[in-house]
Amino acid sequence: MNAESPVRFARRVKLRQSSLRTRMLDMAAGLKDVIALGRGDPDLATPPHIVEAGRKALAEGATHYTHPQGLPALREAIAASIAADGGAAYAADEIVVTAGAQEAIFAAMLALVDPGEEVVVPSPGYNTYHQAAELAEAATVTVPTYEQDGFALTAEAVAKVLTPKSRMLCLINPSNPTGMVIPPNEVEKLAKLAVARDLIVVSDEIYAKLVYDNARVQPAAALPGMRERTITIGGFSKAYAMTGWRVGWFAAPRALAAPMAEIHHGLAICAAAASQHAALAALTGPQDCVDEFRRTYDARRVVMMAALDRMGLGYAKPNGAFYLYANVASTGLNASAFCLRLLEQGRVMIFPGSLFGDHRDDYIRISLLQPVAKIEEAARRMAAVVAAIRAETKRSA
Ligand code: PLP
Repeated sequence: MNAESPVRFARRVKLRQSSLRTRMLDMAAGLKDVIALGRGDPDLATPPHIVEAGRKALAEGATHYTHPQGLPALREAIAASIAADGGAAYAADEIVVTAGAQEAIFAAMLALVDPGEEVVVPSPGYNTYHQAAELAEAATVTVPTYEQDGFALTAEAVAKVLTPKSRMLCLINPSNPTGMVIPPNEVEKLAKLAVARDLIVVSDEIYAKLVYDNARVQPAAALPGMRERTITIGGFSKAYAMTGWRVGWFAAPRALAAPMAEIHHGLAICAAAASQHAALAALTGPQDCVDEFRRTYDARRVVMMAALDRMGLGYAKPNGAFYLYANVASTGLNASAFCLRLLEQGRVMIFPGSLFGDHRDDYIRISLLQPVAKIEEAARRMAAVVAAIRAETKRSA
């Protein structure tokens, strides 16, 4: 192995706090009875009719490459589903099926952003956006969002960070890690800004089917002047509990989709064939499973919010995705130290917000991906750890 290679990699892509994640996962492996509320991987199983479609496809020989952009029937189903959810109209060649939405994020940056250009990303915001921008040698410009505003991303805040080098605006709607849905009227303002400043917009709507309290996700591409400049990213991992199948998609006008499709071919050739058949069954089969998942996450959200209230920890009520972003500053510990302590003493694994591009080390992202009984038990353990930390902080004050 080239002795220089790790150094070269580290220079090109900052390792950020991934070492903390690894440390926590290693620690958890050595502990018994850990309740994992860390990763964004649904505990719920992929619905049986979807699994069956994948199994059947394999048995019938779906063991080859598919068309690089994905099975035509799946692309048509994705286009129909986008339209049914109030999105823009796409032809099948404007849809590309990817190896998870993750791959679409990298394809967007690598195909559409030149070195030195600026990519605007909300903070906190899904960290892959930072990493993909770095790999494209672009500069990531963050737009801070705040608990007191419900972590709302506003056009006003975005306008403040734009420069002549700004090329791409990334919307993560609903947000990972805050669970915030951008209010539709704010998406309209962001769209007007993007049109006025000639920005490409990536609208990551992977959690769009998981919304609560009557929230509505406004598809960015459906707004005036936006279809031609927007890449909508979506997938199956979250709404259909299909993380391990690795299938996602992007929709974009041909001028943007074509170079992205080239990069996609270079990265993956195509998404796994059997997974694409399963994804087709997900979209064309009954949708009550999505509604059931949504109700399940909603119930967990309510339980955890009540527990945080009892602990006296702040948060902004999320209305999408399956996360709660809580403020642990009142314990006197920073969030990274808090998470390590919670894991060690409470055997609950939760990641700090610093893993999601949050420069403040005050927040933790709680994934609501355990049954209610486990969430209640996790909350009890967490309350005990919070009380112990507060007692120590008080003694040393
Ligand atoms: N986009 C967001 C906002 C996410 O939170 C995630 C996963 O957590 C992804 C994309 C990647 O999802 P996939 O499993 O489809 O690659």
